[in-house]
Amino acid sequence: MEEYDYPLQPVEVEVHVDRGEMRVLWSDGHQAVYRFETLRWRCPCAECAGEGGAPGKLAFTTALTPQQTEMIDLQVVGRYGFTPVWADGHATGIYTFRALRAMCECPECARGRQGSIVC
Ligand SMILES: [Zn+2]
Ligand SMILES: [Zn+2]
Repeated sequence: MEEYDYPLQPVEVEVHVDRGEMRVLWSDGHQAVYRFETLRWRCPCAECAGEGGAPGKLAFTTALTPQQTEMIDLQVVGRYGFTPVWADGHATGIYTFRALRAMCECPECARGRQGSIVC
């Protein structure tokens, strides 16, 4: 497993099961928002995302089940990432801090991705 030297660290992580979202306060003060469904669609594990140029399961998936998009636990992976545990038992995707920060769905970051501002 590759380690990532990323300057930003999560200071506070909140998982809101009722709202289906996860919030991360980053060490630069940015409050990031992630919807469970978006996270699950972006699962970086070999099974979901594919490996060595081969497409993963998600490439052939058109809809996720409620179990697949319900996060029941969140594990910290070393000093560089998180692994969500999903209600269907899936827990192999490691979301690095770098990847997670790039996925932020707050209005500011969403705007930044469309225009030229980089969050
Ligand atoms: Zn996966
Ligand atoms: Zn953001």
